[in-house]
Amino acid sequence: MSEADTIFSKIIRKEIPADIILETETVLAFRDINPQAPVHILVIPKEPITGIAAVAATHQVLLGDLLLAANKVAEQEGIAGSGYRLVINSGADGGQEVPHLHIHVLGGRRMSWPPG
Ligand code: AMP
Repeated sequence: MSEADTIFSKIIRKEIPADIILETETVLAFRDINPQAPVHILVIPKEPITGIAAVAATHQVLLGDLLLAANKVAEQEGIAGSGYRLVINSGADGGQEVPHLHIHVLGGRRMSWPPG
C-alpha cells in the first residue's frame, strides 16, 4: 500500500464513505469503524504523513491543529468533562495498522492502565 493510497487517503478524497464529524483545511475526524469505546474517533491530517515517527519540524503547526481538533471532537461528543484518552500508535510494536498518522480519541467509559 503506497503512502498516498491508504484507506484514510481514500476517506479524505471522499472515495469511500466515513462518518465524518469534523473537517478543517488541514484535518479530518471520523468515527472508527471498529470502536473500542462508546466514543472512538480518529483525527487525521489531510497531508499523507505515514505516522508520528515521520513528522518533521515543518509539521509543528499541523501537530497543533491535530491536538486542537482532538479536543474539539471530545467537546462535540460530550466527553470533555468526563475525560478521554488520546492514543497515537507508532509502528509494529506500537500496534499501528494504517500508515497514515492518526490520533485515536477514546471516551465514554473508564480507561484502564497500563494499556495492552
Ligand atoms: P491503528 O491500529 O492505530 O493503525 O488504527 C487504525 C484504526 O483505523 C483502527 O482502529 C481501525 O478500526 C480503523 N479503521 C480502519 N479502516 C477504517 C475505515 N474505513 N473507517 C474508519 N476507521 C477505520
